[in-house]
Amino acid sequence: MTLLPLPAFNDNYLWMLHDGQRALVVDPGDERVVFEAIQRLGVKLDAILVTHHHADHTGGVAALRDATGAQVFGPKHETMPEPLTRLGEGDVISPLGLSLQVFEVPGHTAGHIAYFGQTDGQAPLLFCGDTLFSAGCGRLFEGSPAQMLSSLSRLAALPDDTRVCCAHEYTASGLVFARMLEPDNPALIKRQAEVAALRRQHQPSLPSTIGLEKATNPFLRTHLPEMVSVVRRFDPAALDPVGVFAALRTWKNQF
Ligand SMILES: [Zn+2]
Ligand SMILES: [Zn+2]
Repeated sequence: MTLLPLPAFNDNYLWMLHDGQRALVVDPGDERVVFEAIQRLGVKLDAILVTHHHADHTGGVAALRDATGAQVFGPKHETMPEPLTRLGEGDVISPLGLSLQVFEVPGHTAGHIAYFGQTDGQAPLLFCGDTLFSAGCGRLFEGSPAQMLSSLSRLAALPDDTRVCCAHEYTASGLVFARMLEPDNPALIKRQAEVAALRRQHQPSLPSTIGLEKATNPFLRTHLPEMVSVVRRFDPAALDPVGVFAALRTWKNQF
């Protein structure tokens, strides 16, 4: 199976997975990018997976479905381009013969879902939309800090080698904020140098891995005493884990 981030708009990636004959795409906000890819690769689009309702993730769904007959999957509790197969917690789907589990990960939107699964002989895959970014997380447009913290904790518990397929290239700016919080974290220093080199060559910084995110992403590190004390410099009233997470998210919004 080949995994490809297809760049779209300013900083979106539409993730494509294909076996040389059949393909799936995740969150196709722009159908043109996907049409170009399936033509270039000579593959048939079998499935469209959607994580949440924002237009930059759904804008191309109807055109792609109508032109290719691909089956569309999306969250149970959000407004979606109909018709589609609606999914919720615990559902398992099998596009391209894979087995993908569905997690409900509210926070960025109220009904956001993520897809996790294994491909033969390869590291696991996570399509997490706008929930987890490399060195960051999605803004809380509809959900609460408690929901987002619980969603991210769930993703952090996945195997360390899981390939994390985020929907936006926000890594470099996330790392600037992360370095301000933890200037001496060696994993962060190394990641920042690697991402700078990739971006200079216009290469994606993704996929990341769960192991790398646990070592470098401040939003997966709010349980650590060092991070708690840094966040309390910004908001002394941040006491419990949810309070610390909420303060960190507010700080990032103002950064
Ligand atoms: Zn979004
Ligand atoms: Zn987005």
